[in-house]
Amino acid sequence: MNAIGLFGGTFDPIHNGHLAIARAAADRLGLAQVLLLPAGDPYHKTAPRTPARHRLAMSVLAAQCDPRFAASDCDIVRGGATYTFDTVQVFRQIYPNAQLYWLMGSDSLLQLHTWHKWRELVRQTRFAVAVRAGVPLANAPRELQSWLGEAVQNGSVVLLDDIPPAVSSTQIRQTLASGGDAGACLPESVAAYIRAQGLYR
Ligand code: ATP
Repeated sequence: MNAIGLFGGTFDPIHNGHLAIARAAADRLGLAQVLLLPAGDPYHKTAPRTPARHRLAMSVLAAQCDPRFAASDCDIVRGGATYTFDTVQVFRQIYPNAQLYWLMGSDSLLQLHTWHKWRELVRQTRFAVAVRAGVPLANAPRELQSWLGEAVQNGSVVLLDDIPPAVSSTQIRQTLASGGDAGACLPESVAAYIRAQGLYR
C-alpha cells in the first residue's frame, strides 16, 4: 500500500524547517509523495498577511527540491476555514487505498485536541511528528495524554528522529521586515521569489 504525506501549514513563507520535516517523513516512512498544502484560512491562527497565491507559488518552488514533493492548492480553492478534517476527507477519496500521514511539528500536535473533529480525524490518518526545538512532547495536555501514549505505541503517531532547524515563518518575516537576510532559512528559489515580489518588507 502506498503511503502519502499531507503537510498543511500557513507557509508564510515555507522554510527549511518545513522541508526538513517533509524529507524526514518521506525517508522514514517511505512516502511515495508529500503534498505541501498551504492553508486558505487557518482558523486557529491570525489571518495570514500574505495572499494565498504567493504562499502557493512559494510552496510550488520549494517542492522542486525533492522529486517526492508536490504542492497542492486543495485547501485554498476549497474556501472558508481550513480544517484538517476536511482536507483528509478529500485525500481519502483521491487515494482510497493509501495510508495517509499528516505531517506536523510538536507545537501543532500539542494543540490537536482543539482541532475541528479531532477524535474522528485521528481515526482517519496517521501522524508524522517532528519535535520542534524547545517544544518537547513530554507535557501533553490532559485531553491528549491517553490517546497520544497509545498512538505512539501502535504507530498512529510516528515521532521523527531529527529535530528540524529551529526556524519559524514569524522569525523570517521579522528578519525581512527589518531589512535583514533570511537566506539561510529558505530554499534559494523561495528567497528569490520573495525578493522579486517584494514580500515581507
Ligand atoms: P509561524 O511562525 O507563522 O507560526 P511556522 O514556522 O510555525 O509559522 P507553519 O506554516 O505555521 O510555520 O507550520 C506548519 C507546520 O510545520 C506546523 O505543524 C508546525 O508545527 C511545523 N513546523 C514549522 N516549522 C517547524 C520547525 N522549525 N520545526 C518543527 N516543526 C515546524
